[in-house]
Amino acid sequence: MDGVTFHRQSALRALPAVHRLLAEPAVREKLADLPSALRVSVLQEALAELRAMWAGDGPAEDVWARETGAEAIAARARRAADRKLSPRLRPVLNLTGTVLHTNLGRAPLPPRAIRAVTAVAAGYSNLEYDLASGARGSRHEHVEARLVALCGAEAALVVNNNAAAVLLVLSALAAGGEAVVSRGQLVEIGGSFRIPDVMAQAGVRLVEVGATNRTHLADYERAITPETRVLVRVHTSNYRLIGFTAQPALGELADLAHRHGLPLYEDLGSGALFDFAARGVGDEPTVSFSLRSGVDVVTFSGDKLLGSAQAGIIAGAARWLEPMRKHPLMRALRPDKLTLAALDATLSLYLDDDLAKAEIPVVRMLTEPYEAVARRCREIANRLSPLLAEVDVRLEEVDVTSRVGGGALPQVELPSRAIRLTSPRMRAGRLFDDLRTVPAVPVVGRIEQDAVILDVRTLLPGQEAQLVDSVAEAAGRWFPGG
Ligand SMILES: *Cc1c(COP(=O)(O)O)cnc(C)c1O
Repeated sequence: MDGVTFHRQSALRALPAVHRLLAEPAVREKLADLPSALRVSVLQEALAELRAMWAGDGPAEDVWARETGAEAIAARARRAADRKLSPRLRPVLNLTGTVLHTNLGRAPLPPRAIRAVTAVAAGYSNLEYDLASGARGSRHEHVEARLVALCGAEAALVVNNNAAAVLLVLSALAAGGEAVVSRGQLVEIGGSFRIPDVMAQAGVRLVEVGATNRTHLADYERAITPETRVLVRVHTSNYRLIGFTAQPALGELADLAHRHGLPLYEDLGSGALFDFAARGVGDEPTVSFSLRSGVDVVTFSGDKLLGSAQAGIIAGAARWLEPMRKHPLMRALRPDKLTLAALDATLSLYLDDDLAKAEIPVVRMLTEPYEAVARRCREIANRLSPLLAEVDVRLEEVDVTSRVGGGALPQVELPSRAIRLTSPRMRAGRLFDDLRTVPAVPVVGRIEQDAVILDVRTLLPGQEAQLVDSVAEAAGRWFPGG
C-alpha cells in the first residue's frame, strides 16, 4: 500500500517499546559503550523523534517500515547519544582575517603551551608546592620570574583577565580615594567594561581632567589633592585620537606622580612583549617601554597581542604590588593551573624574537609577509578548484586586508590574500551559512559584495587539509537541486 498514509494512532501505538528494543542485538551493539540509563534515555529520544515526525499525518507504510526497525532506531539513538556527548565548545577554522577574534576565542595557543597545559591538566603539579624545600609555594612564582625578566619589572602577578587586573589595581591602590584620568582615555572595551564603571566598582572617585582631545601636565597637577591615590593612564587600545591632540609624555607624568609620592598606573590593554612597531606593524608601545618610562604599575591581557591564554598581568614596582597580593579580591581573581601552564610556556618563547615569531601563532600571523600568505592561498586554491568546479562555485584569489582585532591596533591594515567564492545559482549568504554549519569543523569567513571571502592569514599551519575537507563537505550541499 505504498504512499498510503497509515492511521496515525495505530502507527504510534505500533512503535516498539524501549524494553523490547534493549533486547535487540542491533541496539545492544550500537549502544554498547553507553551506561544503561543513558541507553534508555537515547532510545526514548529516538522514539520521541519519530512521534514528533508523525504528529500530523501518520507515516506512509514504507517510511514506517524503514524507520521503526531495530537497526534504524538504534542508529537514531546513536546520533542522539553522539549529540549529547560531543562538546558544545568546539574548534572552528578562522578565515575572517581577524587575528584576535574575540568571538572565536582570541589567541590560539602555541603548541608548546598546549603541551604544557595537557601535562599539568592530566595529573598533579607543583602549583603551590615548592619542590626544592618541600614547603608550601605560591602559584604566582612560576610565571613571575619570567614576567619580571621580560617586562623589566620588579614584580608581577597574574589574574583571570585584564578587566580583573584593572579592578584589583584600583581597589588595592585607591579604594576610598581619588584617581586622576584624562578625559581622552575613558575607554569602553565592550561587554560593558568602561573605565568609569570599574572605578565605581573599586570604590574609587574618578577625577577627570583635560578635554577629550587635549590634556596637559598642568591639568593633572591641578587635580592632585590630599585625597589623590593614583594617576591613571589608559592606553586607547581600541581607538585613536588624531588631529589636534596632546597628552603629556609618560616620563613627565611619572615625574609628576613621584613628586607627590603617588604611583602612576597604566592600563595597556593589549600589552605587547614583542616589538611589533619595530617590524612595521602598528605603533603599540611595549610593556618594557612603559616601565622604563617610569610607570609604576602596568596591566595587560594574556590573550591579546601576547598570544597566550586568557589572563590579566600586573607588573611593576614590588611596593605597589604587595597590597594587591594580600587583597581579598586576589583570591576571587586568581588564575587556575591551566592558565598558568599556558602562560609559563608562552612566555618562555619570548626569550628570543625569532622563536616568538616562529612559535607564537598571534605573533606569526601578525608578522607573516603578504607573499607567504599568497603562497599558502595558491596551494589551497589549487586543491579546492576541482571540487568547486563540480558544483559551479567560482573560485578566485584576491587581495584583502586582515585586521588585528581584539580591540588592539585598530588602525593597522595587514595586506593579505584570500579565496573569493561566488556562484551563479546561490547567494553568498547561502554559501557562507553552509560553510559555517558543516558538522565536522565549521569554516567562518566573511561576506563582501555578495561573495564569500576566506582570508588565509588566520588559517593556522596544518589546518589546510581540514579546510579542504570542510569545504568539500559544504560543497556536497551545492549540487544543482541540492
Ligand atoms: C582589552 C582591554 C581590557 C580588558 O582586557 P580583558 O583581558 O579582555 O579582560 C582592559 N583595558 C584595555 C585598555 C583593553 O584594551
